[in-house]
Amino acid sequence: MTPADDAFGSSAPGEHRVDDFELPGTPDGFDRLWNPHRLAYVSRGQHQVKDRDSCPFCAAPQRDDTDSLIIARGTTCFVVMNVYPYNPGHLLVCPYRHVPDYTDLTVEETTEFARLTQIGMTALRSSGRPAGFNLGMNQGTAGGAGIAAHLHQHIVPRWNGDGNFLPIIAQTKNITASLDQLHATLHAVWDEAAAEFDRKQTDRDSAPAPGRGD
Ligand SMILES: [Zn+2]
Repeated sequence: MTPADDAFGSSAPGEHRVDDFELPGTPDGFDRLWNPHRLAYVSRGQHQVKDRDSCPFCAAPQRDDTDSLIIARGTTCFVVMNVYPYNPGHLLVCPYRHVPDYTDLTVEETTEFARLTQIGMTALRSSGRPAGFNLGMNQGTAGGAGIAAHLHQHIVPRWNGDGNFLPIIAQTKNITASLDQLHATLHAVWDEAAAEFDRKQTDRDSAPAPGRGD
């Protein structure tokens, strides 16, 4: 399977994608994500998000997985598709609690936050074959957080030749698969990805630990 064949619609290395539309505009090799039916998810605007009542990350878990684009729900944290993806399959890991800062997480939340990030990478690898990832949290508006009031970690799958990171975050990015398609794909593979991740942990636990030589 080549990257271009997968559900993520990612470009093969060196492949130049262009829009199919013959309308006014400047061709830039980026496809476009047309997803107006999801606009309600963010229609109140990120700049207005300060409290729970206007926070899409607090609202999402109150809807079903399909409507909210949630991929997986843990005890303290959940995984959701980013409606502003930098790349196809761009996920966000969030605590249920409306807290802004990484240091606000409890030990239990921190553990699950990390575990869901690791399973998210596993799920993306099994379904989209990315060559790499960008992981990270933007802390505070000065740190670049779109919704600074509610902590979220980005999981951005990367493919060779998918473009430079800064132009991607500065512009609308070329996404050839719909959020609904990707949500269905990732939702379907999540449990197996979690099992694969747990097997990896078990295998590591049973391997001889590198001792200090005493
Ligand atoms: Zn919130």
